[in-house]
Amino acid sequence: MGFFDKLLKDVSNALKTTPESNAQTSAKPVETPAPAVKPAVPAGPQQKEIPYGAKNPFPYDTEMYGTPLTVYLRFFGKFKVTAVNAAAVNGFGGLDALTDKLISETVTLFENYLHRLSANSVPCSRLPMYSQEIQLSISSELEKTWPDKYGVSLDSFSVASIAYTEESKKKISELQKKEMEEMLKKSSAPAENSNWTCHNCKTENTGKFCSNCGKSRE
Ligand SMILES: [Zn+2]
Repeated sequence: MGFFDKLLKDVSNALKTTPESNAQTSAKPVETPAPAVKPAVPAGPQQKEIPYGAKNPFPYDTEMYGTPLTVYLRFFGKFKVTAVNAAAVNGFGGLDALTDKLISETVTLFENYLHRLSANSVPCSRLPMYSQEIQLSISSELEKTWPDKYGVSLDSFSVASIAYTEESKKKISELQKKEMEEMLKKSSAPAENSNWTCHNCKTENTGKFCSNCGKSRE
């Protein structure tokens, strides 16, 4: 082996070891890897836990005590992704650059689901019962599409909360109060059509005045 051959071999060996050692360091289970200098092609998988939520409250058309109304909902949760196709992820500028796209797609799916529930006349008070269903529906959709679309896999997905805005809470409690008052009024008011016996002549009556002697009902 000549001098230059040996030199070439040494250089190529040196080049080989560099990406390998990079791969080893990034393969460690570090939750938030924050390299000072981003490599052009990240060696090994990159993971990220991403919180999501609607920027603007979602208007949910519903009905309460027979009154149509729109309540405003805030929802949030988080998901975890792993870059499984570094080239694809880098095509979007890396996992950090991809984050907003992933959030917006998640929020859109969430809102579509709420639209469907509203269209199926699910009352807003029952929405918390649907959070698991929403979670399953969105995660199965993203698991299917994200590897091909963005080069990431979905590792976990959760719905933390679906809640009314303060304004909607106030509106709902006002409606509840009004409903309670109306129910109380109904139960305490004398029933208009019930029978009564006249104190004066003992005639059975249904109207406001005695049909026999004309005395008014007391
Ligand atoms: Zn009478």
